Amino acid sequence: IFFNGCSSGMISMKHQLSVLFSFDYRVFVNRSVTLENIKCYGFDMDYTLAAYKSPDYEDLGFELLRDRLVSIGYPHELLRYNYDPTFPTRGLVFDTMYGNLLKVDSNGNILLCSHGFTFLKRDKIHDYYPNNFIQRGNTDRFYILNTLFNLSETYLYGCLVELFTRCSRYVNCQKGFKYGDLFMSFRSMFQDVRDAMDYVHDTGVLKESTLKNLDKYVIRDPNLPVLLTRIKEVAKVFLATNSDYNYTEVRLMNVSICFSSKNPKKQWRAFFDLVVVDTRKPLFFAEGTVLRQVDTNTGKLRIGTYTGDLQHGTVYSGGSSDIVCDLLDVKGKDILYVGDHIFGDILKSKKRQGWKTFLVVPELAKELQVWTEKSLLHFSCRECPDISAIQTRIKVVTYRMDLSYGQMGSLLRSGSRQTLFASQLMRYADLYSSTCINLLHYPFSYLFRAQSVLMPHESSVDHHPLNFPSPEFSALDHVQKISEAKV
Ligand SMILES: [Mg+2]
Repeated sequence: IFFNGCSSGMISMKHQLSVLFSFDYRVFVNRSVTLENIKCYGFDMDYTLAAYKSPDYEDLGFELLRDRLVSIGYPHELLRYNYDPTFPTRGLVFDTMYGNLLKVDSNGNILLCSHGFTFLKRDKIHDYYPNNFIQRGNTDRFYILNTLFNLSETYLYGCLVELFTRCSRYVNCQKGFKYGDLFMSFRSMFQDVRDAMDYVHDTGVLKESTLKNLDKYVIRDPNLPVLLTRIKEVAKVFLATNSDYNYTEVRLMNVSICFSSKNPKKQWRAFFDLVVVDTRKPLFFAEGTVLRQVDTNTGKLRIGTYTGDLQHGTVYSGGSSDIVCDLLDVKGKDILYVGDHIFGDILKSKKRQGWKTFLVVPELAKELQVWTEKSLLHFSCRECPDISAIQTRIKVVTYRMDLSYGQMGSLLRSGSRQTLFASQLMRYADLYSSTCINLLHYPFSYLFRAQSVLMPHESSVDHHPLNFPSPEFSALDHVQKISEAKV
């Protein structure tokens, strides 16, 4: 799409600029990445190459979880709840001691707190958390709901706490509910939901339901094979997924790639130099597991550890990021890894292996829409401003903006304060975008240049004459140069 097929300098430049500056197609930059230096692209599968339709897919996940809990003895009243996509936001923390859902910043300061579907006021939050703060490092107690798969689980915690709180058969206690001689702690409820999540994923119930109704649950993007083909022309490509071989085969062959490809007979594996399934990320980025070959006819694993060189068309199971580097003969710094899991894909690959990282954030489209449409404040400058009126209006706009994202507000902000998710995104993802397909809109020689950020003491000095360039400027310069070269 970008720089290909257009010969007229002015027309192509106009088109390129319109594509480049449309927010939906943009890749955003935390730290500079020179695509020309990237020798290898790695991809996660679920929610990265293989995207799901929201909220239908979360709806399915919720129903399966809810029904599983009822089947193991939870009250039938739970069946009255249906998934409400306006409630959960990704990145919330569940407090297994008090049953609260918390939105926190990077230091653990509480931005928002709900008990069931009731949002707690400041004094009530203070009763639970005296310093308005949690030690989020206490992972035994605080569970971070980081992934898109966690959205339905997040809503289920809200439903369960709401149900038991309102049900007259149960007595509300600080750490759970009493029913006759029975005490059900929030902790045991959390464990039951976690077990139900494992059941839904490990037994293949979710996968089966997905495959039965592909049109409803999965996105087919004809640009995906185009992207993978273009990347393979300039670099090595690998797939590293936690899914097993059979599911990967079906998802990528029938859904994401070949179905929409001009050449449906082309084997999906041909898009990759290396395919690794059952990777068990984040373990994959540390010591990893035993590397085995997969028999692609039966989906079964060959016994023993594979120790040979890379064989094209072979699928591997397990292994580690170090093994991938050895097999592909690339160094970590030459890899751009694309994934949607802030912890399992991005934080670990950056922190443990020093890879370049690209985070897929599907919520970004909505975030940008609210940010551009709702963040406007209009003031007249003719008279001396009434500060309290301005403060009130800022509060109103901030409140309306928060509600525009959903009941739990933005993935990235609460008012002017950034969430834990936002801080991790800025720290560990070099690049981020709503979809990996947006890489198509940039040439593979592109320099993603990060905006220079001054420290507070540096910015107190007037640096005006230096004029640090913005990313838009670097992109514009680049387009201008290439267009001039073409003309
Ligand atoms: Mg994923």
